[in-house]
Amino acid sequence: MSVRITFLGGLGEIGRNCAAIEIEGKICLIDVGLMFPEEDMLGVDLVFPDWSWLLERRQDVEFVLLTHGHEDHMGALAYFLRDINVPVYGTKLALEFCKGRIEELGIEAQLHAVDYDEWKKHGPFRFRLIQVSHSVPDAAGVAFDTPEGIVVHSGDFKLDPTPIDAKPTDLPAFAELGKQGVRLLLSDSTNAERPGFVPSESSLADPIRDIVRDAPGRVIAACFSSHIHRVQQIADAGIDTGRKVAFFGRSMHRNTEVGLDLGVLNLPKDKVVDIKDLMDLPAHQQLLITTGSQGEPFAALSLMAQGRHRFVDLEDGDTVLISATPIPGNETAVSRVISRLTRRGARVFHGRNAPVHVSGHAARDELLTFLNVVRPHAFVPVHGEYRHLHAHAELARKMGVPKVDVLEDGDAVVLDGDRTMVERRAVPAGYVYFDGAGVGDVKRGVLRDRSRLADEGVVVVTVGIERSSGSIVFGPDLDSHGLMDDPDAILQKAAEAVRAEVERRASDGSFDHSAMQNAVRQAAATVIRAETTRKPVILPVVLDV
Ligand SMILES: [Zn+2]
Ligand SMILES: [Zn+2]
Repeated sequence: MSVRITFLGGLGEIGRNCAAIEIEGKICLIDVGLMFPEEDMLGVDLVFPDWSWLLERRQDVEFVLLTHGHEDHMGALAYFLRDINVPVYGTKLALEFCKGRIEELGIEAQLHAVDYDEWKKHGPFRFRLIQVSHSVPDAAGVAFDTPEGIVVHSGDFKLDPTPIDAKPTDLPAFAELGKQGVRLLLSDSTNAERPGFVPSESSLADPIRDIVRDAPGRVIAACFSSHIHRVQQIADAGIDTGRKVAFFGRSMHRNTEVGLDLGVLNLPKDKVVDIKDLMDLPAHQQLLITTGSQGEPFAALSLMAQGRHRFVDLEDGDTVLISATPIPGNETAVSRVISRLTRRGARVFHGRNAPVHVSGHAARDELLTFLNVVRPHAFVPVHGEYRHLHAHAELARKMGVPKVDVLEDGDAVVLDGDRTMVERRAVPAGYVYFDGAGVGDVKRGVLRDRSRLADEGVVVVTVGIERSSGSIVFGPDLDSHGLMDDPDAILQKAAEAVRAEVERRASDGSFDHSAMQNAVRQAAATVIRAETTRKPVILPVVLDV
């Protein structure tokens, strides 16, 4: 009875983590994450895994299992449930974090909270969540007891010995499985290139407290709203140094409320105030914890940086603490926000100039320790760009793991008796773009056009042609946007080329509208490319009159 694991995303990029484990023809999805667009994906809000092949097999999809409540693991879940509504299992907090989008889409989801260490049965699956420490509370690795042996997925993890909630990665549980024999391990590769150990979350307590204590005026701190422990540390620093705390941003409000409800965030009630009340206090008693650590254009921090925030007008003496590193694709936006905040007189502390952030992903020595504890028969690195997967595979080979394979999105690994087989390109795994209007509406060609519009500009060529004679009635007029500062001479030249081309075709005596449009585009493009080496989007408007 073979077991098959197909990777829909996360192997080749940081984001859209999604894997399908298949037993007896039934499928469980491990995570359904999204990816934030890279800088060349213009106008795209989100990138999803391609689950189109599952639509044809919807009867076989049994359930979704979430490892934790990060967007790259559950951000596409609501959209997936809209297509295939199956039960979802995960820790209580992970499920709470999903609820917002599920409710927004009006989906009746069946969410089942699972405690660590209880074996659950669903269809042919037996699985259990195992506690791991990460940059969100209540994160989990998962073990499947399959007909082909135990399959372990690490989830996102680090081996922080002193996490804020005193719930470190449950190495004894993993070791127990290792002793029984783990057939296959899938493990987080994000920091496989980074030597040593990642510092503990609690190592940030002192540096953050120092910054908040020494701040002469207001403190505005930005971090991921799901990083409840970071929020806790920043809030503690403020409260301990005589400040009150207000939260700002939709997800910050939502997630801190969930955190307070579930008891993963602990704050004295009288220390938390509304933002309007906070602004009435003397500056040195204010601590604002907000969203926007990724430079998102409409998040609070960006608006403050542009002087467009409803409540906060930055001034000299303000201190801004960005307690996060930009995820890939957001570097430029974050850098721009830091510059603007600085120009407005704020002192800005961030991961590059102060010890105010630690990663949530295990570095090399932690990964080696983990491999040594689990001692799998076969290993597939997950969660990373190709270079990270490759580096992680090298570590496993060094550890003497018998079977190590680097897979990519769309590949599958099949466990069958003694054999571990890799199937390349088992399913389609291209990026599915979501631009706010619809999923999958944006094709690669459209992205190429958008990117050229931004980089190279656009040229509109208008020409009126008399159908009967083929002679030019008006134009060609060329109009450009974003091509260059003073395009007149080049547009003039291009217009002449277009005119010559139209006249040449007119003498043929044939008039084919779309052929004429193409000819006009070609003629203009040839001149512009030769004169400027640029490739603007050229829109031919041919009118027959
Ligand atoms: Zn994560
Ligand atoms: Zn992740």
